[in-house]
Amino acid sequence: MSHHQVVIIGSGPAGLTAAIYSARANLAPLVIEGEPSSTSDQPGGQLMLTTEVENFPGFPDGIMGPELMIRMREQAARFGAEFLTEKATAIDFSERPFKVWVRETLHTADAIIVSTGAQSLMLGLEAESRLLGHGLSTCATCDGFFFRNQEIAVVGGGDSAVEEATFLTKFASKVSLIVRRDELRASKIMQERALANPKIELVWNTVVDDLLGTDKLDGAVVRNVVTGDVRTLPVTGLFVAIGHRPNTDLFKGVLAMEDNGYLITRPGTSYTDIDGVFACGDVQDHTYRQAITAAGSGCMAAIDTERWLEANHHS
Ligand code: NDP
Repeated sequence: MSHHQVVIIGSGPAGLTAAIYSARANLAPLVIEGEPSSTSDQPGGQLMLTTEVENFPGFPDGIMGPELMIRMREQAARFGAEFLTEKATAIDFSERPFKVWVRETLHTADAIIVSTGAQSLMLGLEAESRLLGHGLSTCATCDGFFFRNQEIAVVGGGDSAVEEATFLTKFASKVSLIVRRDELRASKIMQERALANPKIELVWNTVVDDLLGTDKLDGAVVRNVVTGDVRTLPVTGLFVAIGHRPNTDLFKGVLAMEDNGYLITRPGTSYTDIDGVFACGDVQDHTYRQAITAAGSGCMAAIDTERWLEANHHS
C-alpha cells in the first residue's frame, strides 16, 4: 500500500498539466497513467493517436502529438510527479483517505483528480489503426487544415458530423457526408446549413466497409445498404464523427454523471459531487475537447485540489 496527497487518474493533457501544477506545489502526485497496450487507456491519451498538432500554443512549427505528451510527462516528472504505467482497476471514494486499486495494489490519497478522458467511437475497421493520423481523423478542428483543396468525407449523421462537415468546407474542395440512414439525426438548423452548402454532398444509406492505403488514406470503400452497391470514394481524408464515449466506467454509481456518462463538475470549477475528488479534461467536457482546454482544466483541478487540501489540512 502507498499513500499520496494526490492521486491523478489519467495522463492526457489534463492529467499531466494537473501533475505539473500539483508537483510544483510540493504535493508529489502519483499519476496512474494507463496501460500502453490499450487504445482507450493508453498513457498520454488521445494525442498519442494523432500525428502533427499545429494548434497547441507555443509550437509555431507544430509538434507531433506523442512528442507533446512526452514533453508534458517529463515536465511533471522534473518536479517530482511519480508515474505508474498501469490502469486503475477499482476505486472506493466512500471514505477518506480515498482508495484506488491497481490490480491487487492499494493506493490511498487525500485528494483525487480524475482525468481519464474520452474516446472517439470508431467504425471498427481493421484499417483504422493503420491510418489514424494518416488521413483518418476524429477531430476536424485539429486536422481540417491539412486537407486544403482535397476531397474528403465525414461519417455520421449527428450534430458533430454535420458541424464538422460544414467546418471542413473551409478547407476541402468537396466534403461527402456519409450517413447510414436516409435521414440526419442532427438538429434542423444544422441540417439546413449543411444541405445548403454547395461543397457538401450527402451520401445517404451508406456505410464505410474499408479504407484504402497503407501509409496514407487513398480512398474509402462505401456500400449503399439499400441497393448493395459498392464503390470507392476517392478521398484523401476521412473524419469519423459518430460520437464520443467518456472513460467513466470506473466511476459509475460513485460520481455524478450526465446521462451520456460525462462527469458533472460544478460550473467554473473542477469539483465533482464528492468533496476532495476533482475532474478535468474530456472526461467532463463534451463541448470543446481540445488539448489546450483539457490542459487548462487540469491546471484548474490542481489549483482547486491544492486549496482544498490546505483548507482540509491533510498531511
Ligand atoms: P450522436 O450520437 O448525436 O450522433 C451519432 C451519429 O453517428 C448518428 O447519426 C448515428 O447514426 C451515427 N453513427 C453511429 N454509429 C455509427 C456507425 N458505426 N457507422 C455510421 N454511423 C454511425 O453524436 P454526436 O457526436 O453527433 O453528438 C453528441 C451530442 O453532442 C448530441 O447531443 C449533439 O446534439 C451534441 N452536439 C451539439 C453540437 C452543437 O449543438 N453545436 C455540436 C456537436 C454535438 P444514427 O442516427 O443512425 O444512429
